[in-house]
Amino acid sequence: MTPYAEVIGDPIAHSKSPLIHRFWLEQLRLDGDYRATRVAPDELAAYFEKRRGDPAWRGCNITIPHKEAALAHVADPGGVRASIGAINTVFRHESGDLAGTNTDAAGFWSPISALDLSGLPAVVVGAGGAARAVLFALTRVGVGPVTILNRTPLKAAGLLASFGLKGNVAALDAKLPSAALLVNASALGMTGQPPLDLDLSPLPNDAIVYDLVYAPLQTGLLRAAEDRGLETVDGLDMLIGQAALAFELFFDAEPPRERDDALRDLLMQ
Ligand code: NAP
Repeated sequence: MTPYAEVIGDPIAHSKSPLIHRFWLEQLRLDGDYRATRVAPDELAAYFEKRRGDPAWRGCNITIPHKEAALAHVADPGGVRASIGAINTVFRHESGDLAGTNTDAAGFWSPISALDLSGLPAVVVGAGGAARAVLFALTRVGVGPVTILNRTPLKAAGLLASFGLKGNVAALDAKLPSAALLVNASALGMTGQPPLDLDLSPLPNDAIVYDLVYAPLQTGLLRAAEDRGLETVDGLDMLIGQAALAFELFFDAEPPRERDDALRDLLMQ
C-alpha cells in the first residue's frame, strides 16, 4: 500500500504540485505518490468521506474553487477560518481527524523572511484568496500602513478592516505610494490576463517587488522592477515554499530544499 497525497481542484490539469512533490519523493527515495484529482464542487463532501477511510491517503492540497468550501468538511485546529478564511492543505491530525491548514501565508513569507518590515509601508495588489494569505503574513510581522490596490476597492476595504490593518485602498490606476514592499497578489500579469501596469517610480531604491504570479515566471511587473534596479521575488519561490510545508505534513519528512535550483529548472520546462 503506497502512501499518497494529491491536489484537488476544478480544473486541475494545470497544477504544478505533482511535479514538486514527486521531485521531492524521488530525491528522498521515499515510497509515496502524489496525484492530481479533479473534484467538482458538488463532489467535495463525497470526496472527503471516501478519503477519510482510505489508509493510504495522507492528505491533499486544495486549489480553486475549493479553498473556502473545504473548511466545512475538516477540523480547524489552527483557527484558519477566522484568520485567512481559506485552506490549501488537509492532513491527518494526530487526533485522527482530518485537519485543514493554510501554508500559503508561510510560503509567501519564507523567501523574504530576513526582511524586517515592522512599521514599514507596504502595497498589496489584489483582494482575493492569495491577498488574504499575504495580509495575514504581513500582519504577523507588524507591517506599517498597507495600501491595497484592487479592481473592486470596496472588497479591499473589507480586507483591511478584517485584518485590523492601518492603511487605505485605491483603484488599480491610482498613483503608487512609497513602500518597502510591493506585492502583486492579483491575477493581473498571468497568461491570458491583462498586464499589471504600475508606475514604479515612487518606490525607494531598496524596495522589494514580489509577484505571486508564476505563469509566466518573468512578468511585466518584475521586468519593470529589474529595469529600475529593484530586488525581485517571483511566484515559484512561494509555490515551492507552500508545498514544502504541506510535504512535511503528508510524508513526515523534510523536503531537500538544497535541490531548489534543480526543482526550479524542472518547473520552468
Ligand atoms: P482570486 O481569489 O480569484 O482573486 C483574484 C484577484 O485578482 C482579485 O483581487 C481580482 O479583483 C483580481 N482580478 C482578477 N481578474 C482581474 C482583471 N481582469 N482585472 C483586474 N483585476 C483582476 O485568486 P487568488 O487565488 O487570490 O490568486 C491570485 C493570483 O495569485 C493568481 O495569479 C494566482 O496564480 C496567484 N497565486 C500564486 C501562489 C503561489 O504559490 N505563487 C499561490 C496562490 C495564488 P476583484 O477583487 O476586483 O475581483
